[in-house]
Amino acid sequence: MTDLPEAFVARMRALLGAEAEELFAALQRPPLVGLRVNTLKIAPDELRRRVPWQLVALPWCPSGFVVQRAAEQEADGAAPFGTPGQHPWHAAGRYYLQEPSAMAVAEALDVQPGQHVLDLAAAPGGKATHIAALLGDRGLLVANEVERSRIKALSENLERWGARNVLITNEAVERLVQRWGARFDRVLLDAPCSGEGMFRKHAQARAEWSVQQIQGCAARQARILEQAAALVRPGGLLVYSTCTFAPEENEQRIATFLRAHPDWRLEPIPRQPGFAPARPDWVDPPLPELVHAVRLWPHRLAGEGHFIARLRRAEQAEVAPPAERERRAAGSRLPAELLAAWQAFARDTLRVELPLAQVAARGDQLVLLPEALPPLDGVRVVRAGLWLGTRRPGRFEPAHALALAVRAEDARRTHALDERSVVAYLRGEPLREAGADGWLLMTFAGAPLGWGRRVGGVIKNFYPHGLRRST
Ligand code: SAM
Repeated sequence: MTDLPEAFVARMRALLGAEAEELFAALQRPPLVGLRVNTLKIAPDELRRRVPWQLVALPWCPSGFVVQRAAEQEADGAAPFGTPGQHPWHAAGRYYLQEPSAMAVAEALDVQPGQHVLDLAAAPGGKATHIAALLGDRGLLVANEVERSRIKALSENLERWGARNVLITNEAVERLVQRWGARFDRVLLDAPCSGEGMFRKHAQARAEWSVQQIQGCAARQARILEQAAALVRPGGLLVYSTCTFAPEENEQRIATFLRAHPDWRLEPIPRQPGFAPARPDWVDPPLPELVHAVRLWPHRLAGEGHFIARLRRAEQAEVAPPAERERRAAGSRLPAELLAAWQAFARDTLRVELPLAQVAARGDQLVLLPEALPPLDGVRVVRAGLWLGTRRPGRFEPAHALALAVRAEDARRTHALDERSVVAYLRGEPLREAGADGWLLMTFAGAPLGWGRRVGGVIKNFYPHGLRRST
């Protein structure tokens, strides 16, 4: 077996018997490219018709697809922008590239629009963007990530997604329990794990793998699973997921948790083609209800390896009520000048009205707060809500995030980029076009990409420096 750790091969043979050879064969094949549509911005069918790659629907995620033959199409020139990651609609947040099995996780959370959902280990934001779409931009998504170095990617991905009711935090789970208690309708713990399910995608996961690593991960998972559960309201759901095969990090974590917490039970995850039940016999003593959790094996379906368990907290569970309830978000009184600058910009540039009661000032910046927020004191907040823009001397400069959260028809002036000029725009180059001076929403094939500002026939480029492309 090339490249797979020997001890891993031995462990999987002991667990799976002859089936292990099918797994090893699958791990030698190239990984699939998955694409999940941002239903806040476009319907999956429409996107499928309008992108230059062939997309094959996934049974377990209505907005998810496998990208077929992207590489060949790129080579024969059928895909004008190259790979799906290079297409301008990716920069516009119309889709997220995510391996297909990972798309089953947020679906298992049974998110309903308007709920309050907490994603505890959110970076880089695959499942968080999925949850934001399922919420339909109502309620609240709290996307938390403890690792500071991973926050930038999370923020950028959520910004591109254009969701408004999002709070991004950078906290230890323990701290969130202390501050917030049992208040969320849904909590996702996509736990840090040994990553065996990603062996064919990430060489690093193979290189770092060891039995000791599995044991270390299992101990950490046990701790954060306890904490995650304390954040779920009575009657609410907790989804625990990993991208590894090791029973120590999957069935054994769930069994230990359930045996210690009689007011929790496993709920069945709707079965989809290729999903396999988790293994009650991989726990000592066996726990029959583990068949309600699922395993996604790369040799049984079009995706990488995943484990997903859905846990329901009893309605009657006794919990200490949160010290403070969610508050309807209300902006602090806006400085009159800042408010006037925003209103002048909004009148001139936008056709939509944003709820002023939720607009708040942070120095010279304005943000649109989510509909409701948990108490934020004592919590490291990275971003609360949608950045609207900044007051500059004599004018208001809109935020990139605002461009990605509105529709083309929401702007009074747009500039439709073509296949050539969109490349120049994403590189940060100025463009020329006669017309009235002022802010322009720059679009490609109907999708807003960012801002430009026309003065005397030259469109100054406001695509953020950090996102500009070099080719
Ligand atoms: N949910 C993410 C997504 O879909 O894009 C992937 C999350 S990744 C599997 C696990 C995350 O757990 C990492 O971002 C990692 O930084 C974070 N993590 C590591 N140690 C942690 C801890 N002690 N508590 C909470 N999260 C932790």
